[in-house]
Amino acid sequence: MANVRLEDIKRRFNNVTAIEDITFEIPDGEFWVLVGPSGCGKSTILRTIAGLETATSGKLYIGDRLVNNIPARQRDVAMVFQNYALYPHMSVAENIGFGLQMRKVDRKIIQERVMNVARSLSLDHLLDRKPKQLSGGQQQRVALGRAIAREPQVFLLDEPLSNLDAQLRDDTRAELKQLHQELGITTIYVTHDQVEAMTLADKIVVLNRGRIQQIGDPQTIYASPANQMVATFLGSPPMNILPVIYENNGFDVSGQLLTIPAVVKEKLQLRQGHSYDLGIRPEHIFINEPPTRQEANESQLIVEVKVVEPLGRETLIRAGLPGSAVVLNIQVGGDVRPRPGDRLSLQLDLNQLFVFDPKTGDRIL
Ligand code: ATP
Repeated sequence: MANVRLEDIKRRFNNVTAIEDITFEIPDGEFWVLVGPSGCGKSTILRTIAGLETATSGKLYIGDRLVNNIPARQRDVAMVFQNYALYPHMSVAENIGFGLQMRKVDRKIIQERVMNVARSLSLDHLLDRKPKQLSGGQQQRVALGRAIAREPQVFLLDEPLSNLDAQLRDDTRAELKQLHQELGITTIYVTHDQVEAMTLADKIVVLNRGRIQQIGDPQTIYASPANQMVATFLGSPPMNILPVIYENNGFDVSGQLLTIPAVVKEKLQLRQGHSYDLGIRPEHIFINEPPTRQEANESQLIVEVKVVEPLGRETLIRAGLPGSAVVLNIQVGGDVRPRPGDRLSLQLDLNQLFVFDPKTGDRIL
């Protein structure tokens, strides 16, 4: 096993800078997830660590070894891709043992290791099958097994679950987590799925446009995002962003005044008449019942229900602010079922507000 250290890594493709200023160190045995929207550079980082891409500049260490100029085969890493890439003419056992066979490991040892790996992935009853006789989930487990059997120092996984259907995806995700707990191999996992990132990671690296936005454990990033991009990327449904103007000691939200407590005001140091983006997560919005009159309670917002999505344990409501295009996601208990067209009075948990600079996206509060 090994730690992985990237120092100021940059990769350019002709005129395009795919990634830059990439610096982080993954301690031995940890599970890190690189997450971000399509094109943010996560695969390029992973491929650079694997040795499938060369960094334009910067230093890359695996363990204490500088590996910039070491070919992929000699880096002692194993990569699993989203499209399994199994050898179709080989059996499951041969696929899992392939890396060891290439290294001319003794046949007996290969057999033993293939059996152990197959058992840990519940593949031991399928060892004689060919890939096309397996389900997608089983094929993906074989691909994982092939990587595990090599006993690499580092695991690199590029969207390994994205070809699986929803149920299988959840199951395989849990298996992966368990496997990591058992093996303790340093793992770097690329995904654009924030649920995978939140559930699997010791640490998440959020990327956007080739740059790191924030590094931290899932809970910290969720509770304390560095900027609007991170705030809206992690969380499902995503954080609501309301364009507001700060005036009369409150926020003007499309013509409705949201008064804010003195403590929040003191922290904020906002400027009268200036525009801000207010952020509030769907679970921090409550419905006032019965609706109070606007005059009676100025920290409420009146909205009109557009769509109601019952999800069993909870209900997701999409509601619009009258006279504006702003739509709010509200997450409430499963027993709350308003109807489209209903007017609701909402209470925002003002201790859970975020405030962003609308120009830069930087977080002010
Ligand atoms: P996705 O989730 O869509 O796979 P990603 O976050 O993994 O995206 P990368 O594949 O790392 O993103 O690509 C980062 C940027 O680098 C993109 O703008 C992409 O177009 C560019 N890029 C990647 N590989 C090449 C290449 N071989 N030649 C030119 N540009 C490239």
